[in-house]
Amino acid sequence: MPELQKLNEQLAAAEPREILDWAIRSFPYQTAMTSSFQASGIVLIHMLRTMSFDFPIFFIDTGYHFPETIEYKNRLVREWKLNVHTIVPVMSKTEQNRVHGPRLFEHNPDLCCRLNKVEPLDALQRELELKGWISALRRDQAETRKGLKPVMKDSHGVLRIHPLINWDRRNIWAYIDAHGLPTNPLYDQGYASIGCFPPCCTSKSEPGSDERSGRWAGKGKVECGLHSHLKNEN
Ligand code: SF4
Repeated sequence: MPELQKLNEQLAAAEPREILDWAIRSFPYQTAMTSSFQASGIVLIHMLRTMSFDFPIFFIDTGYHFPETIEYKNRLVREWKLNVHTIVPVMSKTEQNRVHGPRLFEHNPDLCCRLNKVEPLDALQRELELKGWISALRRDQAETRKGLKPVMKDSHGVLRIHPLINWDRRNIWAYIDAHGLPTNPLYDQGYASIGCFPPCCTSKSEPGSDERSGRWAGKGKVECGLHSHLKNEN
């Protein structure tokens, strides 16, 4: 059986800390995390703080984040002394507007996500050549995530590690409550998933709907592209 499939069988029922522990031990100093500082990410960051000193976290600043998100992220960096690095798009907004026209997020959100999220992370991955990238994806977040495995390979052959794969939304908020973690204030306003501020990219969700139902609602788009093309094979 291919190695990755075997590993995923071993980690099939693993708790988040077991998967984090496996990642840190398997690739010391060769693993990082990406986070947009949403609730699931905060849970992972809180766990990582007790397991690995100074763990590198990368925040993709699309230039379109809510001010509340930036303020909240800065507060946590300061108070938790996090090792956070900000990634910015390769192409400036001025250049994007010149080449593709203004309000790209409205008329071509796939291209907007590619320029402002996917390409900056791709460029960083090529430069750092790390072995593993941790993210806070969960299967219960959306239909598109139901097939996720604990560890997958992206199109560059880099491992994408999903420690929260076996948790659902209730687990996340129970952990946040149990540990008294601060969260992005936008959750209190009715947002269930928080991305960029344009209303066509992030809106409030109906109670009981998928966590990501407010993302690009009505646009036929559910994912930004950062987590597409993941494979469960060597
Ligand atoms: S979420 Fe919206 S604004 Fe942010 S990069 Fe994607 S399309 Fe652009």
